Amino acid sequence: MVLARTTEKFELEYPCDSPTEPRWFLARATPLQHQQGGVVISHTNVTDRKRLVFDLAKLAATDPLTGVPNRRHFVDVAAAELERTKRFGTSTSVLMIDLDHFKSVNDTYGHAAGDEALRSAAKACKSAVRKADLLARMGGEEFAALLPGTDMTSALAVAEKLRRAVASTAVCVEQNTCWLTTSIGVSQVSPDDKTIEEALSRADGALYRAKRSGRNCVIAANTD
Ligand code: GH3
Ligand code: MG
Ligand code: MG
Repeated sequence: MVLARTTEKFELEYPCDSPTEPRWFLARATPLQHQQGGVVISHTNVTDRKRLVFDLAKLAATDPLTGVPNRRHFVDVAAAELERTKRFGTSTSVLMIDLDHFKSVNDTYGHAAGDEALRSAAKACKSAVRKADLLARMGGEEFAALLPGTDMTSALAVAEKLRRAVASTAVCVEQNTCWLTTSIGVSQVSPDDKTIEEALSRADGALYRAKRSGRNCVIAANTD
């Protein structure tokens, strides 16, 4: 195109892996200012800039305290999963996970110890879900898990595994050991959901009922 003068310049970024590290180059073709025509093609190593872009994107998607994905990333991925459910009829479920009586951890051991407890809880939750699942911190002492390819029955089993994982994790805070429990609401994403918020809100309703049922338990959302 540049040679035919239908365009002024052509640029393309492309990955070019070396044995030691991923690298990126920018290929640029510009017309040669010469009567016979011709093009100049250059390849510039843009790995540093590309790495910065990736790092910034990762930072924007990550909760700084626990290192797990944040709410924004969770909602983006879950919304895409809802579209897959609509299009292909796949099963997807979500868990809303809230630490029980977490305020008392802060009140008893202090805010820094509470932060440490949140990190431990995130680690325990993450260890209980599969690699294909997405565990995120939604804010405060609330987490969520997206379980692609998982119907309600299997999601309840995952939630129960997660609940037990947190309950059996000893959290060491300043020379003390404390134990955390979680309440979990589970909902299956429906192809009739207009937005993913509808499925999250059903899971939230179930979480609310889990709290009212005495905490440290898993409750399935109503389907209507
Ligand atoms: P419930 O069982 O009803 O969920 O009780 P709870 O105490 O867990 O819930 P509540 O909403 O009353 O309190 C949440 C607490 O979580 C209070 C807040 O200070 C604490 N919290 C939220 N975010 C953070 C954080 O980033 N670090 C620390 N240390 N504490 C946090
Ligand atoms: Mg709580
Ligand atoms: Mg809460």
